[in-house]
Amino acid sequence: MEQEFVNDFTRLLEELDALLVTHPANVRYLSGLPHAEDAWLWLDAKGPLVLATPLYENDLAEAGLPHLLGRPKDWPKLLAERARGRVGFESEHLSHAALEGLKAAFRGVELVPVRGRVEALRIKKRPEEVERIRRAMAIARVAYREVRPLVRPGVREVEVAAELECGMRRRGAEGRAFPTIVASGPHGAFPHAVAGEKALREGELVTLDFGARYQGYHSDVTRTLALGEVPAELARILNAAKAALEAALLRVGPGKPIAEADRAARAVLEREGLLPYYPHALGHGVGLEVHEAPRISFESEGVFEPGMVVTIEPGVYVPGLGGARVEELVWITEEGYAVLSEGL
Ligand code: ZN
Ligand code: ZN
Repeated sequence: MEQEFVNDFTRLLEELDALLVTHPANVRYLSGLPHAEDAWLWLDAKGPLVLATPLYENDLAEAGLPHLLGRPKDWPKLLAERARGRVGFESEHLSHAALEGLKAAFRGVELVPVRGRVEALRIKKRPEEVERIRRAMAIARVAYREVRPLVRPGVREVEVAAELECGMRRRGAEGRAFPTIVASGPHGAFPHAVAGEKALREGELVTLDFGARYQGYHSDVTRTLALGEVPAELARILNAAKAALEAALLRVGPGKPIAEADRAARAVLEREGLLPYYPHALGHGVGLEVHEAPRISFESEGVFEPGMVVTIEPGVYVPGLGGARVEELVWITEEGYAVLSEGL
């Protein structure tokens, strides 16, 4: 991964003499360092330079990356010698205290806030990244299949979540991608409900939203299940979410406008009178972060491009009644797309 990043240099340094990368996912993407939360990456015409604590000496030596070691508060001083002209920093990912440290250490340097430069490179996944996401999905798939018989009346939401997370870990996940959602009955009306003490009940919908992390990469998938016979209104909600998903997927593929996919989902829900109950965007990119660019919404600009890995996840949430969300993880290819979350 790290060899290729030299090619991306010109794009990253556009109108800058140097760029200081501080967002852990960005540092990891460019350097390949697995412990990027404790490192900065400096880029200038001389090449990359990693700033890290002495804990990471072995990792850095192994990776063959030029580096300087020290306490984080001393990193600005270590960089001062290379800092000149216009130095970009990631304004969304640098603490105010760290910025003050840079200002104090750098003399005659213009600090320029920049946003989204490395994120823009991360949008299109390289084959080895897709493989890791695929693996993270495969782990989640196996865990789901094992846990599926447990999803029945009388079992508490937290038990289902615990078994899912445990199953993913046992299958090789570094951890869960995010706190597992198991939301049943009226809980399902909250898009970001987690898993609570509530027991599942006959006649309810239950939404399971989960994923695994594997070698830094994530998976993300949602299924909504009916527990036995559900009232007609709940069945209608679930069918509408599924129909919205199908309509959206027809608009996914290379060169197709991103906004159209969300518009297609919204049109289905509008026909059902359920649009007011769909409060979020259709989806998001997935990679080193669970939520990353591109955002999939009716307001998004641009088109789907080969290499993107995104979720398509329409949902319907009716307060007091319940909710349904269906989420697929799709990889945009040259020909169309592949559903990485199939088989669940
Ligand atoms: Zn999800
Ligand atoms: Zn998602």
